[in-house]
Amino acid sequence: MARNRDPQCRHCRRENMKLFLKGERCYTEKCAMERRPYPPGQAGQGRHKFSEYGIQLREKQKVRRIYGVLERQFHHYYTEASREKGITGESLLRALERRLDNVVYRMGFAASRAEGRQLGRHGHIQVNGKRTNIPSFLVKPGMTIAVKEKSRTVGRVMEAVENVEKRGVPTWLELGS
Ligand code: SF4
Repeated sequence: MARNRDPQCRHCRRENMKLFLKGERCYTEKCAMERRPYPPGQAGQGRHKFSEYGIQLREKQKVRRIYGVLERQFHHYYTEASREKGITGESLLRALERRLDNVVYRMGFAASRAEGRQLGRHGHIQVNGKRTNIPSFLVKPGMTIAVKEKSRTVGRVMEAVENVEKRGVPTWLELGS
């Protein structure tokens, strides 16, 4: 499956804000936004005045980068969201939050969405007791997401679970034991 292979810190610098794409590193002084808090490239440190379109584009790119979704996939989510009743932006975010890689991250099984995606791809995640290796799988209410029994001792899973209290679990998810 296609994915963006650009360095993740570059995304944050491009958007001029921390997007927290790299787990624990984002909370340390090693974070690129602490050391070089300006957009990459030659014109990075110059002044920028964005048009209305430019502002909207940057906001869209931020969301896309936070959830690690490519342009085409994002367009698909948008089309689906625009068909739903209610506010399109909220429907769009709801769909993105339901992605399996995001839920794995939100539950604290992974330090970042990218790691959540990798855990899923490598077969460590189960949905309702069945191995599911599709990061874009949309989780529905009532489903049970778990780390496979054998994978619970994987170092980065244990580390992420230890740090979950610091991040907290959203109220729409229930963390079991
Ligand atoms: Fe962004 Fe994290 Fe890199 Fe900092 S360490 S620039 S927050 S991805």
